[in-house]
Amino acid sequence: MQSTSNHRRISIFDTTLRDGEQSPGASLFPTEKIRVAHRLAALGVDVIEPGFPASSPGDFAAVQQIARTVHGVEICGFARAIREDIDAAVAATSEAEHRRLHLFISSSQIHLDFQLKKSRDQVLELAREMIAYGRQFVDRIEFSPMDATRTGMEFLVQMVEAAIAEGASIINIPDTVGYALPEEYGRMFATVRAQARGGDRAEYSAHCHNDLGLAVANSLAAIQAGASQVEVTINGVGERAGNCALEELVMALDTRKNTLAMGTGVHLEEIYETSRVVSRLMNFPIAYNKAIVGRNAFQHEAGIHQDGLLKNRATYEIMDPERLGVPRNMIILGKHSGRHALKNRIGEFDVHVTDTQLDDMFTRFKELADANKRVSDDDIIALVGETVDMHIDPYSLVDIQVFTSNQMDRMASVKVRHNESGREETLSGTGAGPVEAIIHCLKQAVPLPVEFEDLELHSISSGETASGEAIVTVSVDGEKYRGIGIDRDIIIAVSRAFMSACNQAVRADLALRAEADALADAAQAGR
Ligand code: MN
Repeated sequence: MQSTSNHRRISIFDTTLRDGEQSPGASLFPTEKIRVAHRLAALGVDVIEPGFPASSPGDFAAVQQIARTVHGVEICGFARAIREDIDAAVAATSEAEHRRLHLFISSSQIHLDFQLKKSRDQVLELAREMIAYGRQFVDRIEFSPMDATRTGMEFLVQMVEAAIAEGASIINIPDTVGYALPEEYGRMFATVRAQARGGDRAEYSAHCHNDLGLAVANSLAAIQAGASQVEVTINGVGERAGNCALEELVMALDTRKNTLAMGTGVHLEEIYETSRVVSRLMNFPIAYNKAIVGRNAFQHEAGIHQDGLLKNRATYEIMDPERLGVPRNMIILGKHSGRHALKNRIGEFDVHVTDTQLDDMFTRFKELADANKRVSDDDIIALVGETVDMHIDPYSLVDIQVFTSNQMDRMASVKVRHNESGREETLSGTGAGPVEAIIHCLKQAVPLPVEFEDLELHSISSGETASGEAIVTVSVDGEKYRGIGIDRDIIIAVSRAFMSACNQAVRADLALRAEADALADAAQAGR
């Protein structure tokens, strides 16, 4: 999505690797940071803030490597208004194609009194001095008066004026503690621009925290008031309640472009995958109901919604999940699903059932949904198998045994049925854990180079009868397949999910071969 002529282009400054990494528990190894930075570049962000070079040798090295190898984006070094920090940020970003230095110093009275223990005059002087120092090395200086939203307009204007006078060309007005309201935050930008000497020369940036759930609303207010850059993170990770989420802001601008007349350079189709990579590497799960990238964001369970959706997506969806790279088979069937949704899902397996068969299946489907809350594709395939005696899946799990030990490798023995021939085969394997051992068994049954990509585990009920849900992603030659397994035994749930993903891969492979054969036959016949 490129902005068209009458759309104002908003610059996306990604701080997933700096502010985002400051989330408790979200820290990354340097190699992981480098991987995320390449993803961000592919996503199409304009600026990456890859870390805080003065904070540790590892962060310094990661920023340096990112500056060296990530192209097509501006790389921003982050520094307190301290000479050593600036030296580190300047050195770490020296090989970047385009670079920027981001300098910050507190400006609110409470920070001055308790954290910096400096007077306003001292802080102003320090800001001037350090911006001038940084300007010797880097042309583009971004300046942030930290805790700007609790600073008071008069001093904020003085700080900004001083920063611009010393050569800062980008002024960030951070809502460091997530305190602002949209209208007042927007007004702050308009006031600073109008009142600070040289204020109309600078570019303005919004940096919002989500303590009151207002980070996206505040960022939108800022850009509507003239800011041209927003500082965001993937999945909204960041200090405390997090930062403005990239995916939410970008999709608000895209979905309401006719009203807002603004656009970004983000490639929407990369959003979902980027979100997954960041969530996984940071060990930071995404809330089910998280906007845009949460697993329920495009799921509809109520029967009336599913029915409407199947007739026309726009009845209940304002965005097309496929444009964001969200896999399509994510409609979850449960007790609120109607006949139409069940029929549709069965149709996706290329199975056609009579009305009587559908009635029968629908009754049993509702029983299953009441008992398990959710009905996975596996359950539906089993229902089809029982009703129309048809094998949709190439393979079924018959039995699983695992031997665990704290001394040796885990050993597993798995019996798999080849549904086409009815043949059963027993496979054995070992692994460092029970899941690995089982997967080593199952891989032997499948005639494709299956790679295990990802495992998510969720508890879907509580109490003694708790069952677990496993979602396994596999890839075959770069193509991804996702299987869901539900069981009271989590190891069995993972095995079912893996088998289901493999079955999808094999079905896709068989369909491709059938298509190729049909083409070849047609070519023969035409001769
Ligand atoms: Mn922040």
